[in-house]
Amino acid sequence: MPSPELHRYTLANGLRVVLAPDRTVPVVGVSVHYDVGFRSEPENRTGFAHLFEHLMFQGSESLEKLAHFRHVQSSGGTFNGSTHPDYTDYFEILPSAAMERALFLEADRMRAPRITEENLRNQVDVVKEEIRLNVLNRPYGGFPWIKLPAALYQTFPNAHNGYGDFTELEQASLRELATKIVGEQRGVHDAGFYFYSAEAAAAYSHWASANLELWQCVVEALDDPSVNELLAAI
Ligand SMILES: [Zn+2]
Repeated sequence: MPSPELHRYTLANGLRVVLAPDRTVPVVGVSVHYDVGFRSEPENRTGFAHLFEHLMFQGSESLEKLAHFRHVQSSGGTFNGSTHPDYTDYFEILPSAAMERALFLEADRMRAPRITEENLRNQVDVVKEEIRLNVLNRPYGGFPWIKLPAALYQTFPNAHNGYGDFTELEQASLRELATKIVGEQRGVHDAGFYFYSAEAAAAYSHWASANLELWQCVVEALDDPSVNELLAAI
């Protein structure tokens, strides 16, 4: 099967977009990558990138807790996110007619995730449990993921445990999440709200025009007149 042709765009707000139209399947996959990962973590704040990935699933300004899950799963879709050394990704796979819904879900949490004290405390517990389940208490042992970076590398960004030290995870505070984690890459909106990056916040304060621009890229990539009619109706 030939690989889909890639179309690359940069929106006026700076968001880089890659479209890969594939007409052989009636589904759409939307994936958003942020330039933040384990290697962005400062010393004494191990595990914060992964913790923040969890916090992005706890609702956003327009969506109450679990609404994101329901919007995707009720149409037979699937979703997840994962944290890597240099980036964090989130994705949804949905019936193709639901593409705009997927874009809205991602845009709303990029613009205004619900970072509250309650969400923070319960996600610290969830992350600790995930580490116990997947790594520390795995039956019959397992691959020593946590010990590997320190054996391979010497500099802190590469050598530290990206899952995070439990004591450091417990020290996470709203204020710190909002102001310090990756320094200038992230900015504050107001109490309890936190943007993954100041850049993203600015980008999505103009979501309506970015949305239209994104649709215009889709129209061009698909080269399909019926999508043009759809666009005219927006
Ligand atoms: Zn996790």
